[in-house]
Amino acid sequence: MKKVELKNVSKSYDGQTNVIKGIDVSIEPGEFFVLVGPSGCGKSTMLRMIAGLEEISSGDLYIGDLLSTKRSPSQRDLSMVFQNYALYPHLNVEQNITFGLHTKKVTKAEQKKRCLETASMLGLSELLNRKPRQLSGGQRQRVALARAIVTQSPICLMDEPLSNLDAKLRAKMRSEIRQIQRKLGITMIYVTHDQTEAMTMADRMMILHNGDVQQIGHPLDIYNNP
Ligand code: ADP
Ligand code: ADP
Repeated sequence: MKKVELKNVSKSYDGQTNVIKGIDVSIEPGEFFVLVGPSGCGKSTMLRMIAGLEEISSGDLYIGDLLSTKRSPSQRDLSMVFQNYALYPHLNVEQNITFGLHTKKVTKAEQKKRCLETASMLGLSELLNRKPRQLSGGQRQRVALARAIVTQSPICLMDEPLSNLDAKLRAKMRSEIRQIQRKLGITMIYVTHDQTEAMTMADRMMILHNGDVQQIGHPLDIYNNP
């Protein structure tokens, strides 16, 4: 379990306007932390800075105890799930799930073992030989989730992972993601524009407004003090 800490972090894309404005937050090990707010408020930017996909303009970002500038994205030991799933169309489910393990020096036998365990956890055991185009939206979403979990990274970042699913499946996946996150003790940073999703999933949520923290706290505290 690892914490993620931002100290006075700002981001500007054009060198003039800050789209993230001096954010301070410490995300605790094992916490389910949700970033919520309307489109354009800076959620993806914040997530991408933590992932190392975007440089921070000023401030300090710590992943665990290490200053992030000392680490490339692949050294940050975190996994990501995207809105569009980004599955490899020419690979089957098993190959998609284990793809990220090739670079991690995990043996073939260990890859197989982890893949089977993860697939079983997510109800994918019968689908390992299928290609992504032979899966439903919900099944694809599960493969994307499996690919993140199988890395056993202590930190997982998710960017609107459920927005392509229908309402019923979304509700089901919310609770599945929460269960798996608790069971594995992963530190989760989860982005959504959906207030209900944030309320039902978060240990703590941060409401962003134009790159500023509007509110931060337990969902019930925020609900009672809007
Ligand atoms: P959200 O994820 O909450 O929708 P974003 O982090 O994507 O918000 O965007 C925050 C702000 O930064 C927006 O004003 C957006 O237009 C701007 N922005 C995002 N990405 C870029 C980029 N690559 N270049 C310039 N501006 C960007
Ligand atoms: P091919 O080797 O057949 O050209 P690619 O390796 O270019 O296929 O990738 C095919 C698909 O996988 C693309 O749709 C792309 O979005 C997705 N993809 C490529 N790189 C990554 C990555 N690093 N993580 C997740 N998905 C990726």
